[in-house]
Amino acid sequence: MIFGKYVNKYYLKHIFALLLGVIALVSVDYFQLKIPEFYNYVVTGLGSKNGMITIGGQEVPFDLNFLLDKICAPMILTILVMALGRFLWRICMFGTAIKVETDLRERMFDHCKDLSQQYYQVNKVGNMMSLFTNDLSTINECFGDGTLMLVDALALTGLAIYKMSKLDPMLTLLAFIPMFLLFAVGTFVGKYMTKKWEERQEKFSQLSDFSQENFSGIAVIKAFVKEFKELWAFKKLNKENEKVNIEFTRISTLLHISVTFFVNSVICVILGYGGYLVYKGDFQVGQLIEFYGYFTSIVWPVMALSMLIDMTSRGKASLKRISELLDAKPDVVDGSSVENVEYIKGDIEFRNLDFAYPDGDYNVLENINFKICAGENVGIIGKTGSGKTTIVDLILRVYNVPNGSLFIDGKDVNTIPIKTLRDFCAYVPQDNFLFSDTIENNIAFSRDASSSDEVVKAAKLADVHENISEFPEKYATILGERGVTVSGGQKQRISIARALMKEASILILDDSVSAVDTKTEKVIIDNLRENRRGRTTILIAHRISTVEKMDKIIFVDDGKIKDVGTHNELVERCSDYKLMVELQKLEEEKGA
Ligand code: ADP
Repeated sequence: MIFGKYVNKYYLKHIFALLLGVIALVSVDYFQLKIPEFYNYVVTGLGSKNGMITIGGQEVPFDLNFLLDKICAPMILTILVMALGRFLWRICMFGTAIKVETDLRERMFDHCKDLSQQYYQVNKVGNMMSLFTNDLSTINECFGDGTLMLVDALALTGLAIYKMSKLDPMLTLLAFIPMFLLFAVGTFVGKYMTKKWEERQEKFSQLSDFSQENFSGIAVIKAFVKEFKELWAFKKLNKENEKVNIEFTRISTLLHISVTFFVNSVICVILGYGGYLVYKGDFQVGQLIEFYGYFTSIVWPVMALSMLIDMTSRGKASLKRISELLDAKPDVVDGSSVENVEYIKGDIEFRNLDFAYPDGDYNVLENINFKICAGENVGIIGKTGSGKTTIVDLILRVYNVPNGSLFIDGKDVNTIPIKTLRDFCAYVPQDNFLFSDTIENNIAFSRDASSSDEVVKAAKLADVHENISEFPEKYATILGERGVTVSGGQKQRISIARALMKEASILILDDSVSAVDTKTEKVIIDNLRENRRGRTTILIAHRISTVEKMDKIIFVDDGKIKDVGTHNELVERCSDYKLMVELQKLEEEKGA
């Protein structure tokens, strides 16, 4: 059993299934404790000198009828009830645990989608994956097996102690002294195990982070012949993982050995002291066997108790990690000033914007001022690291924007619901990402419903239709890990097609034509101009040729706006821009 902020509600939600499981389990325990009574009857009956046996204060003959009516028939009934009960509690308890795991997983996934990009920069994918696999399955174990163990330990032990003390209270007390010691040892060791389990999970996360990064960056590793370096780094992490696992296993084994030791001590007490009582004539052999039968039936619950301590320790550590994820507040959310916005036309205005990243200690953007009118084609150009991506990230509200510094259609961006704003934007990120799915589904991803003709139209505008038509499966070609690998330029153009499908008021392309040749780039830009007439298009680029025909060029340098104007205007009045033009011309001539 496990308790905590994010699991308590499930006990209430599944109360009926859990209650049914508990009733079934307690019934099984009750019937299970009937069996030692039957042993007693048989042994006492066989040892009876006059062929009579006392049951419930009445003397009855120990004959074939007695064996059939009082032992075989009730025993068959007991076995049947136990089989049915066991089936029922398994379904109820383990089934509920699976439901809890599924529900919690869904909740975690739902929460993850609201977390900001910043969160994912701090928390690696491997770590997140281990929350969704290892930690969730530990919660499942604690909820299902844990509830079973706790109920079983309480019910079976309680019933058995009652029956044992009815037979001989002194023997019962002596038998339970080692059991109390076991409980004390288990509780103490459990605390240490929680700590070790946390370390174990941490190391596992590091290992999966490392593996995940290596698989993603395998091309870079191979190109730089760094396989051995990575292998050594992996070995080191793997060794640390092994060390902490061995430590955990050592302590867990110690606990299990202690259980066996204490259980055997009790058997010693029962046989020694119980045998003495039989010798003295205070106890019958049949009663000693019945007593021993009760004790053997509680060995498992007591073992379970120690396993429960171990499991709860692990469960607490896993729940702590999951709670940290669920407690993480989405930091980019709608503020109290949001209004209902039906439509976004595409006017964008920055007014004296200063911006520092949440974990940064300096302004990445300073005093940003420019205006884009709806329907304009705008290029943003500047050196790497000058702040171009940050500007478009703020338009998309990837980060929080200071009040009164960014206006969309004349409204402060903080008064526009984030979902509405993004609904009216289409975006091609720098590190464009395609899903392991068909090309058609990748392009159609940006729209809830679309026809194949619309997908083809978008692909034609992005100048990738011909490439797709050359694939044997055409638009049904599966991309990524399960399918074909497309070139960088094809990937960029499929991403552009996906963004174009949306027909959004604002289209942002972040360095999205860098991997295509200048001829293809020209075709795409001409198509964009033609197709997006009346809608805002922002294109971040490195090459002047990409943006020179745009209505407006925003020249960014070191987080500041150097100048805004047409290509000719900038060449005339901005010396840095002019220098950049000349340098790029020189480079082209050199290349040619
Ligand atoms: P550009 O798109 O012009 O290459 P960016 O907008 O990506 O430039 O980056 C501008 C500056 O902000 C750079 O100095 C970069 O290191 C920094 N930066 C970018 N992203 C982050 C981030 N998530 N956290 C902190 N600093 C960042």
